[in-house]
Amino acid sequence: MDQSLTEQEMMGVKGKRPHILAVPFPVQGHVRPLMKFSQQIANHGIKVTFVNTEYIHAKVVAAMSEEDKEQRSIELTSIPDGLMPDDDRNNGFIINKSLRRTLPRNLTNLMEKVSCDEKISCVIADITIGWILDDIQKMGAEPVAFLPGAAAEMALTHHIPKLIEAGNLDMNGTMVQNELILSDEIPSWRKNELIWCVSGDLNTQKLFFEFFRTAERSAHHAKWLLCNTFHEIESSACKLIPKICPVGPLLSSNNLKSSAGGGSFWVEDTTCLSWLDNQPDGSVIYVSFGSVAAFSQDQINELALGLELSSRPFLWVVRSNLANGLHAEYPNGFLERVAERAKIVEWTPQEQVLAHSSVGCFLSHCGWNSTVEGLSMGIPFLCWPYFADQFHNQNYICSMWKIGLSLNPNESGLRSRHEIKTKIEMLFADYGIKTNALKLKDLALKSVSESGSSFRNFETFVDHLKKRR
Ligand code: UDP
Repeated sequence: MDQSLTEQEMMGVKGKRPHILAVPFPVQGHVRPLMKFSQQIANHGIKVTFVNTEYIHAKVVAAMSEEDKEQRSIELTSIPDGLMPDDDRNNGFIINKSLRRTLPRNLTNLMEKVSCDEKISCVIADITIGWILDDIQKMGAEPVAFLPGAAAEMALTHHIPKLIEAGNLDMNGTMVQNELILSDEIPSWRKNELIWCVSGDLNTQKLFFEFFRTAERSAHHAKWLLCNTFHEIESSACKLIPKICPVGPLLSSNNLKSSAGGGSFWVEDTTCLSWLDNQPDGSVIYVSFGSVAAFSQDQINELALGLELSSRPFLWVVRSNLANGLHAEYPNGFLERVAERAKIVEWTPQEQVLAHSSVGCFLSHCGWNSTVEGLSMGIPFLCWPYFADQFHNQNYICSMWKIGLSLNPNESGLRSRHEIKTKIEMLFADYGIKTNALKLKDLALKSVSESGSSFRNFETFVDHLKKRR
């Protein structure tokens, strides 16, 4: 890190410490990585005020451990999301519509209020609310966009106008051919794998497509595009995006004394860590589908029985709404039969779980955060994508990096217990995949270590913030 201005000097001049705002989109997979990044910046003497919506702020604070509170180096604040108490905050369109109406005014008010002490020189906003970047510039702060997903998805988004012009996409975002190729080194997209094709419904697709077209236009206003990726895994995608600045993998352990981090919406059940301590090295299947994915009760039964058939220890995250919004039920006698080798919890400290020596496989929905966390810990994947970018992330994992296998649905659309058992056996027996996973782990950790590619990008960005204050 450039020592031209020491932290002590910066802190010593009251009112002169660089002060930035970080504004995530209010869902778990977006709040978490931006909070990790914010902590990292704050540890370099920059004041960060992290702006959640009131609803999310309450969740984050309620879920924080004492350790998170002690180690927190950023200020947490909140603004209203403009919704009524009964509105559906799980619906991204409803939230986005409301934020578009209310965020410009709320953010201006907040900036005026907090600037009295230390002027805000920069606002880092999630690209999903990238339409605010122009307003940020008008408010006199530097607009920076944060991309919580893969660079490949931003490369795709960036190319939307060209893809329409070339006849690859129609105006609704439907792929005209069967495959879309941006570069030989990025997995191609098949028809149902485009990030805006989240359901078979054309009207929903059009809404999502408009979301991404807006993000594409917004990116032009950003002075930097910070991305939770690293050059070594996405160099081709990065080359396709002007202003991209890969700063990942964003890991809590990059910047804190322990791997605690904060930013979870649910209380992390740490009893799973002591349970992991009692399992043999490399033996455990860790099963987690992130914060959104949900399944039919029939599918949950198949998964439970597949895990049982595997005869291996497993740690399974079962959120209280995993069964399509309801509590999951288990097959008759299942809990008793697997009691000796299973741990089921509602939410884990996932990075610590993945870093535990007893974990041997990550059965994952392939959300980008989970993908980056798993590969940084050298864990082979069993891929079960649910929606949006997760199919493309699976292609990275299985076809490009060769660190996992996919779980394929049968003719009824279910991942059967036999498919699950078979793929678990195949994965644990595949030394090639394990070797690749360890190589990728090495690259990931090097990129955030001194003089690594993301380390240098981070340094450049922080130096810039210091000079700009
Ligand atoms: N996560 C966690 N504990 C869990 C499950 C998930 O801390 O039990 C975290 C995980 O580490 C990741 C985030 O939640 O940082 C989920 O983000 P991801 O992009 O993987 O999936 P999404 O929730 O957006 O579908």
